[in-house]
Amino acid sequence: MTVLVRPKALGDYKIREFRMLIDGQWADGAEGRTIERVAPGHGVVVSRYQAATKADAERAIAAARRAFEDGPWARMTASERSLILLRAADMIAERADELAFLDAIESGKPISQARGELAGAADIWRYAAALARELSGESYNTLGEGTLGVVLREPIGVVSIITPWNFPFLIVSQKLPFALAAGCTTVVKPSELTSASTLVLGEILEAAGVPAGVVNIIVGTGPEAGAPLTSHPDVDMVSFTGSTGVGRLTMANAAQTLKKVSLELGGKNPQIVFPDANLDEFVDAAVFGAYFNAGECCNAGSRLILHRDIADEVTARIASLSAKVKVGDPLDPETQVGAIITPQHLEKIAGYVSAASNDGATVAHGGAPLDLGMGQFMTPTILSAVKPEMAVAREEVFGPVLSVLTFETTEEAIRIANSIDYGLSASVWSRDFDTCLTIGRRVRAGTIWMNTFMDGAAELPFGGYRQSGLGRELGRHAVEDYTETKTLNMHIGERTNWWVPR
Ligand code: NAD
Repeated sequence: MTVLVRPKALGDYKIREFRMLIDGQWADGAEGRTIERVAPGHGVVVSRYQAATKADAERAIAAARRAFEDGPWARMTASERSLILLRAADMIAERADELAFLDAIESGKPISQARGELAGAADIWRYAAALARELSGESYNTLGEGTLGVVLREPIGVVSIITPWNFPFLIVSQKLPFALAAGCTTVVKPSELTSASTLVLGEILEAAGVPAGVVNIIVGTGPEAGAPLTSHPDVDMVSFTGSTGVGRLTMANAAQTLKKVSLELGGKNPQIVFPDANLDEFVDAAVFGAYFNAGECCNAGSRLILHRDIADEVTARIASLSAKVKVGDPLDPETQVGAIITPQHLEKIAGYVSAASNDGATVAHGGAPLDLGMGQFMTPTILSAVKPEMAVAREEVFGPVLSVLTFETTEEAIRIANSIDYGLSASVWSRDFDTCLTIGRRVRAGTIWMNTFMDGAAELPFGGYRQSGLGRELGRHAVEDYTETKTLNMHIGERTNWWVPR
């Protein structure tokens, strides 16, 4: 039996009203329309936003353009920018409880997990602040007596930042501080389902000393408020995290004006397990990897590829651990799996499970939505006897659903792992060094974990192969992604190489 944590009613919680941030002013949208967010774990409206139209998006882009061309941000020293980012990091840490609460009620994620994400986000802002001062170009004093070459790094300009709903504050923190560190100005559009914490970030950045127009934040739907940010000629770069479908659309829109795009997209991440692995550690990691953030996670380890000799034992152990996972009220500190983002998304998850069952997969645990009296929830689910060609094994379910596939040889495991369109992350579990390195080198994914799962650090680049995306976030080169390279080629001394002979 799944352990249930029944949601408590939010009682006298007052709906928070948010305006958008354009050119240093908190403003209403041109049409005065609003968007309301219903908390997925509690079923009541918790936030109301001003909805941005195309005209609002264009005002925000114009403000960012002016701030880039005429404002102080791109011109101040890296030390000054870094100090402001450090101040922002401190304020994020000070307001972490409030921000975590907003992310938990709007996304349905467990509050304990949201607090962890906030701590991680503050750390990323500090890391970006440090990188701001390390940004430098190159010089070539080796091109002959008469030539000196200098390569400058300049901020790329106006950057659109578009983020999804599953890690609202963490994902904006993987983009915005690096763009700011480089000297760029920005228009940020969080998901319309989870915009609150990003808007509070706007307050923090103002208080930290970010000048007007450098960070503009609009809320709205993708087609209305997001699309102009991907196509407007005054935008120089789009940094997008979201689904592969919208990523493709973003790239196509950006192609009209040849903008740089950075895309962090979907994943369907294999975990390959050999019989010599530490299975106690693996089964715990498998449950965490599949059910963390209710499986609504680009990195979810939702595709287990188990060696045939251990498949039955491991499946049974995961099924029994799955029953101990606490599902329910996102605001209860004990909860491990919270609510599903929308009722429509819950239907989609349940649809994947029933299609897989109809095609011959076996439900080893769970398999159905959970009625907890309010909000929408899904039982942690493990499916065995899944075939590599089934949709549940190839597509992002984006819910707490684990598919078990099996292999006999290392070559077969690699072939199954690489047989889909995604390539975000993977893991290998074995005590054998050669096995781990072989999988590590041959599986095509941006991150390979060895005997662990979903660990991360600001220092380590993150991003996908193939249809999981383009480019990398985090890591020492993250600020460079938001720059242009300019070559200064300088002639020194008297000219001797005339083109027209003298
Ligand atoms: P989504 O693609 O539906 O939306 C992402 C953002 O794009 C939202 O802000 C949305 O409003 C906006 N958008 C939608 N249509 C748009 C359009 N036509 N033009 C411009 N913007 C538009 O994704 P989602 O459902 O919010 O998030 C889940 C997806 O995000 C999953 O596929 C997940 O794997 C992916 N994701 C990837 C990473 C990563 O780092 N690789 C991290 C988190 C989530």
